[in-house]
Amino acid sequence: MDSYPFAKIEKKWQKIWDEQKLYETDMTDIEKKLYCLVMFIYPSGDRLHIGHWYNYGPTDTWARFKRMQGYNLFEPMGYDAFGLPAENYAIKQGIHPAVSTAENIDGIRKQLKRMGTMYDWSKEVNTSDPRYYKWTQWFFLLLYRNGLAYKKKAPVNWCPSCKTVLANEQVKEGFCERCESEVIQKTLF
Ligand SMILES: [Zn+2]
Repeated sequence: MDSYPFAKIEKKWQKIWDEQKLYETDMTDIEKKLYCLVMFIYPSGDRLHIGHWYNYGPTDTWARFKRMQGYNLFEPMGYDAFGLPAENYAIKQGIHPAVSTAENIDGIRKQLKRMGTMYDWSKEVNTSDPRYYKWTQWFFLLLYRNGLAYKKKAPVNWCPSCKTVLANEQVKEGFCERCESEVIQKTLF
């Protein structure tokens, strides 16, 4: 039996989908709307691995099924692009995190397109883009001015060498995952 000539067929159709903006959602059509949102990708490496696809494949397949049932589907994609993993990658590569993050995102977007996903790329967000985080800052100030956000002392994981607060998952058996210094508990504002 001949194998499926994916390299030929998929490349051809993905180009046509792209040109026709097939997956750009018409936001004015609200009759049978459906919003399919997945966890945004951490662009802390230059490529997606197969584990990413365990996560994004089933949702995209389900979204396609709903679309074929006639739903006006909105499926965006974005990048959770700040944080220690992205910073560590940049340090390892010896390049500025703004540059390495942008490069990683370009590679990841290409991979997602080659997988034949139906994300609406016109609505892509990147949390390290000032056009995005000006809104999270705006929202935080709104909470703060209404007394819903407050300042209080609390114990945190502190790496004395990195001089930064670490999340629990960045502490490996009491040591910093980046520099392996002993993590201390510090009370901070
Ligand atoms: Zn450290």
